[in-house]
This record gives sequence, C-alpha cells and structure tokens, in this order.
Amino acid sequence: MKSTTGRQEAISAVINYKPLVNAIDLEGESTGALYGTNVFNDKVQRQLLSKPVYKALQRTIARGEPLDASIANEVASALKSWALEKGATHFTHVFYPLTSLTAEKHDSFFDPDGEGGMIAQFSGSALIQGEPDASSFPSGGIRSTFEARGYTAWDVTSPAYIYENPNGNTLCIPTAFVSWTGEALDHKTPLLRSMQALNEQAQRVLKLFGYDDPGMVTATAGPEQEYFLIDRNFFFARPDLLNAGRTLFGAKPPKGQEFEDHYFGAIPERVLSFMMEAEHEFYKLGIPIKTRHNEVAPGQFEVAPVYESANLGHDHQHIVMLELQRVAAKYGMSCLLHEKPFAGINGSGKHLNWSLGCKLGNLLDPGASPHENTRFLVFCFATIRAVHKYAALLRSTVASAGNDHRLGANEAPPAIISIFLGEQLEDIFEQIKEGNLSSSKASGTLKVGVDTLPTLPRHAGDRNRTSPFAFTGNRFEFRAVGSNQSIAWSSTVLNTIVAESLDYIATEIEALTGGDSTKLNEAVGKILQTIAVEHDAIIFGGNGYSEEWHQEAAKRGLPNLRNTVDALPALTEASSIELLSKYNVLSEREVLSRYEISLERYCRDVNTEGLLALEIAKTKILPAALAYQSQLTSLAAGLKSIGKSPSTKLLDEIISLTGDLEAEIESIEEALAHEGGDDLHEHALHYRDAVLANMLSLRKTVDALEEIVSDELWPLPTYQEMLFIK
Ligand code: ADP
Ligand code: MG
Repeated sequence: MKSTTGRQEAISAVINYKPLVNAIDLEGESTGALYGTNVFNDKVQRQLLSKPVYKALQRTIARGEPLDASIANEVASALKSWALEKGATHFTHVFYPLTSLTAEKHDSFFDPDGEGGMIAQFSGSALIQGEPDASSFPSGGIRSTFEARGYTAWDVTSPAYIYENPNGNTLCIPTAFVSWTGEALDHKTPLLRSMQALNEQAQRVLKLFGYDDPGMVTATAGPEQEYFLIDRNFFFARPDLLNAGRTLFGAKPPKGQEFEDHYFGAIPERVLSFMMEAEHEFYKLGIPIKTRHNEVAPGQFEVAPVYESANLGHDHQHIVMLELQRVAAKYGMSCLLHEKPFAGINGSGKHLNWSLGCKLGNLLDPGASPHENTRFLVFCFATIRAVHKYAALLRSTVASAGNDHRLGANEAPPAIISIFLGEQLEDIFEQIKEGNLSSSKASGTLKVGVDTLPTLPRHAGDRNRTSPFAFTGNRFEFRAVGSNQSIAWSSTVLNTIVAESLDYIATEIEALTGGDSTKLNEAVGKILQTIAVEHDAIIFGGNGYSEEWHQEAAKRGLPNLRNTVDALPALTEASSIELLSKYNVLSEREVLSRYEISLERYCRDVNTEGLLALEIAKTKILPAALAYQSQLTSLAAGLKSIGKSPSTKLLDEIISLTGDLEAEIESIEEALAHEGGDDLHEHALHYRDAVLANMLSLRKTVDALEEIVSDELWPLPTYQEMLFIK
C-alpha cells in the first residue's frame, strides 16, 4: 500500500522541482554600476539638495550634531521626486520593534487633489515623524493602555532606500521607534544612544593622546549570518519548522556532518543561483556583501558584508535576513534563521565583528608605530576590562529560547564569556601585567615599551573557534549572538560597557597626569597594568568546549549562565541599570521593560513549541506508531493461525515505545496546563524545567520510533531528506 503522507508528497514535489523560469538575468551586469542605485546616498543627496541643506544633513550624519528640523521640508521634497522617479508609489517608516522583526506601515504618496484627481505629496513632518498603529508591539508596560501610541522618528544617519516589488516600489525611511514620553520601544534608539556615549568617551581619551581632530568615533559592525536552506516542500510538511522554526523531532541521519565534506565545498547550483540573486538585491540597496560560502553542517551557509557603522550595519542586517527568506522562496527553498533547526547538527550563529573607527583609522588596529601601538593597547584593554566587568550583562544580550540550544553545545561558544587574545597579544598582556613593559622607556617617543616587542599581531587570523569573544587581528568578534537575533542589543551593550571603561581610563589619566602631557606615558603604563592585574581572569586561550574550562572558569569567578532564565536577570542587576542610565542608553524603566519583554518572549516561544510537540505527537506520530503496531499484530495473528510461532520482538518494542509515547503525551499536556506561579520569572522557570524537559523526553521516544516504524508510514520528512536532497 502506497501511503500519501505529506512527507511522501513533499518528496515527489522535490524530485519534480524545476528551476525558476522568471529568474532574473544577471549576466553581463556590473556590480559597480548596480551598487547603491536604490539608495538616497551621499551622491544623490549632493545632487538633489541645496548646498546649505546638504551641509546641515552632513553635520548630523558625519559629526553627530543634532538634526536641524527646518531642513526636513526640502529633504522630503527631494526624496519624493527621487522616489517617484524610481517608480515608488508609497513610503514607509521602517522600524525595529523588540520582536526582532522589521516593522513598517506603508502610506501612499498620493492624496486626492479635490478636483477628482490625485497629487503626490510628502511633507517634512511626514518624513520626520510617523505614528504607526503600534499597540501590538511589545512595550513591557511602558505604554499603558490609555496611551498606546508610539512614534517613529527619522534616523538621518541611515539613508532612505527604495524597496522593489514586481508590482510597485516603496520608499523606505529607517526610523527609531519611541513612546509618546520618548522612551525607547525598539532596538535602534538605544543603539544610537550607545554610539553617542562611546564617541564621547573615546574623544576624551584621544584628546589626552594629543589628537585634536580625530573626527567622530563610530562603533563598527560586520555581522556574519549563518543560515540553513531546505526545500520548501519539506518545510511545509513539518509543522514544527513552519511554526517554531526548528524541528522538535527527528532521528540523527546515518550520515551527519562528521564527514566534513560540506564546509567550503562547492556550492550547489540551486543555492548559488539563489545567493547571486540575493546579492543582486543587496547591491542595489548598497549593502556591501562580501563573502558567501558553505558552513559546517550540511545545508548550512553563510553570508557576510564588509563592516559598516554599527547603526547602518544593523539596518542592513535586517534587510539581509528578510531578503534571504524572500529570495529563497523564489528558488523553492526555505531559509531557516533559527539558531538550532536540527538537533545533533551544528546550529547557526551571527558573529558580530566589532571595532571603533574614526579619521585616524581603526582604533583596534595595532598599527605600525609605537604611538599607534599604545593607542591600540588602550582601546583593547578598555574592551577587556569592559567585557570582564560586565560579562553577565553581555551574556544576557544573547539570551533566547533558540540560542539556548546552541550556546555551550560544543559547536558554539559556551555560555561563559571569556576573551581570546591570540598568543602574541596574550604574551604582551602578561608582560604588562608583570610590569615588564612600563619599565623600558626610551626618550621622546610615547610608548609603553612596546617597541622592544615584536610588532603586534596585525590581522593574525584567529582559529580558536571555541571562544565567545576573540581578538581577530584588528577587531573583536563576539560569537555568541544567535542567527535569528538582531545585532543591535549586543552592539548597544558592547558600546556602552566600552564607553564606561574609556571613561574610567580618561578619568584616571587626567588624575595621574594633572594635565601634564609629559606624564602621559607613565600614566598609561600604570593604568594598563592595573587593568591587566584586575581583569586577567577573563583571558582564556584554551579550548572553551572542554570540561576543564568550565571548572577553571568557576574558580576564576566567571559567570556561567547556561540558559535564558538564568541569564536575563543580569540585566536588572543594580550595576547594569546604573551603567545604562549613566550613559543615557536606557532608563531604569526601559531596562525593566526589556527584561520583561525578553522573559515573556521566552515563555511564549517554549509554550508554542510545547503545544506543537504535543499536537504532532498526538496527531501524527501516535497514529503512525499504532498503524505499524496493527500491521505487526495482524501479521503475528496470521502466522499463528497457520501454526507458526512468530517472533514478536519488534512488536514488543513498538508496544512498549507506544506506551511510553502515550504517557509522555499525558505529562506534557499536564505541564502545558500549568504556568508554575504568578510571577513572570516563575513562569519562565516552569517552561524551562517542566515544559522543555518534557519535550526532551517525548522527543527521545519519537526519535526511537522513527528508527523502527516502517518508512512508508512515517509522517514527517526525515533529517536525511531535508538536509541532503538539494
Ligand atoms: P571569518 O569567517 O574568518 O571570521 P569573514 O570574512 O567571514 O571572516 O568575516 C569577517 C567580518 O569582520 C566581515 O564582516 C568584516 O567586514 C568584519 N570586519 C573587518 N574589520 C572590521 C572592523 N574594523 N569592524 C567591524 N567589523 C570588521
Ligand atoms: Mg568570523
């Protein structure tokens, strides 16, 4: 009997897949000519705006000066003509609510002209401020019910762009999203505030170093995005993937990733076509995509841009996530951004490469001269101090139900935050700690004795993949961010904690030198040594996956916050609230609202997964197990009736596993019926300790059944099918 499970249908649809007919023709196209054609970029602004308005805009963009609102009308009018010429009919304020999604509300440019026709309009006030119906976005209690309004505010530092659709184009204006009282309801607002704080403190330090006009110091971000691609037919045949983004069941395939034949292997043709079309879209939007390659797991890939200012990098990263999913669908595939779509197979992360740059260059580049070396060491040590002092807070920024499956699972960094410096820099760190460097002074040059050392490791590629926070030659790479997460929150915290350390360093230098620049060298040496002595516990160059490291880290007093419920409270610690409010990044209320939103989100995610697991177990797995049991029973009865004594080994196994399955269905039902207390944290604990734990034992039974139930009866596409059929 041929069964017609959704799985069988999916397989035949995949086999019959035909390449897309309306694929765009990319041949003969020059990336150079295409790049940024849909962006209201500097070149276009210079062309379309009057000189004073262009200059005023530039002062805000390049120097961080407050926006002169009186220029809005002229900018709006230029934007409108540019957008209409590009075929836009609508405009939208794009914003980034705390759902990690991108939100937009489209308005037409056209209004009735009162004479039976329509006229295109776009005022300065519509550019500067929008009022989306925002009541359904999480606010963590900031917006009370009587005032559900939220406002979007034009972010001039991220250029407007045209988003194309075969049926019409839209002018997109990146915005911040705030409540009527000015409190942040989004990811962008605190990110911008943190960049401002970082700039202010970095300026103080640079000034002490004698730089009079270093230009604005900008946090930079280069996010590498990992993702999976599977055929869409499989995606739709798996309710768990469709609704939760990950598989809740699935036995390990006979061939997993242990062959390591996928990493940097040839990219399959359908996938490459998809990548090329996605890149085509990215280029038009001025997103500097640079690399594409296979990742470690079968069916896993990565895309990374050239780094940009953290704010722009963030906005572009959101577009990348959206476009990957949209374009994949055109090629009959689903792009999975979940941190752990498949158990037992590597999950996906989003490495956040982070640094700070200004007119002087990259401040985390060791440079060639002793002067640059010293400057580098100051910024590098500021980061080390920051990450040690606020390790738990930084850890909390990557806490989510999805990322819990990845962190610490011997494929991604552990939940313990530590810093990898590389051999050479670690050696320098040690010497500074011992005081060996500050003693060797040569006359004239500002240095911390660094010229007695080999040149600092420039671009020394780091291959210690087990570290969550690694120095990679001219930047730090924060590897704990989840593939599905916005980079904004981690960047925000990173910027703020480093701002705090730079503040500390500047204040110390001021105190030690009393304004006498000849004392600078000595002062810097002293501060670096103090930092090395006080913060050496965070430096670790060994294997972060090993059990010994877990024990060692505990001895060093480093926090090991294994999951979201353990990690999130770090956000509400007095030290975190003090820090974030001191640098005007988030007020106490904003912090508490974020904590609440994240915890609520965790509960909702696990609840959804629990309900899904229950539904699939009840309506798909149990019937398949019973059907097989019935087949085997008839067979045994038949054999008996003709005088044979059949082996019932398999039948016994099925009966036993089916019994387990029924019991587990009952207990997960029970777990889902309770909430575990009144307070949000107790709910979260319940979801972690009761619901998730039940899901895990349910999964064990289901996966065991998958290994013995007749393949014809099995209802869900298997790991083997999803990962290896291209
Ligand atoms: P790997 O996989 O070896 O880490 P990739 O080339 O995939 O390297 O990614 C490196 C990322 O780091 C790129 O996005 C790159 O632009 C980014 N990067 C390089 N320099 C900086 C910097 N100064 N600030 C932020 N990101 C940077
Ligand atoms: Mg990397």
